[in-house]
Amino acid sequence: MGPSAGKGRAGPTTEDVLDLLRRRGLRMTPQRRAIVAEVMRTSGHISPPEIARKVRDVMPGVNASTVYRTLTLLEDVGVLSHAHLEGGAEYHRAEEAEHVHLACSRCGAEDDLSLTEARALARLIQRHHGFLPDLTHFAISGLCRDCQRRDGTGRA
Ligand SMILES: [Zn+2]
Ligand SMILES: [Zn+2]
Ligand SMILES: [Zn+2]
Repeated sequence: MGPSAGKGRAGPTTEDVLDLLRRRGLRMTPQRRAIVAEVMRTSGHISPPEIARKVRDVMPGVNASTVYRTLTLLEDVGVLSHAHLEGGAEYHRAEEAEHVHLACSRCGAEDDLSLTEARALARLIQRHHGFLPDLTHFAISGLCRDCQRRDGTGRA
């Protein structure tokens, strides 16, 4: 199940999120509003530079730090959650964040595992180390099938 796969769990709407921020006493500037709208329109991975670029298309002059600060704010209120991928930190809508990233360190291809698929790995770590892993936070890097084949290191 990819991040783009609709999981049927409806998250908050743009209006819900703007309300949430307002109730926190945050001033809703047009920039912030545009950033929130763009974030809520995006499904799957939300890359900070990409959000900045798209918001600038509709509102030139928005600087990257405003975008980054707003993303952090959205994470603080529970709307977003971040993960570290090969290309840097990205965000997910909180309701879409529960998966493990597999990232090819050679070609950059990305794939993901559901937490159900990763359960055996999580259990193994927990059983042997008493450590409860959060497998969603960092990508597992390695080689994708194609890169292994090109290498001759593939086992299949
Ligand atoms: Zn993801
Ligand atoms: Zn982190
Ligand atoms: Zn690859």
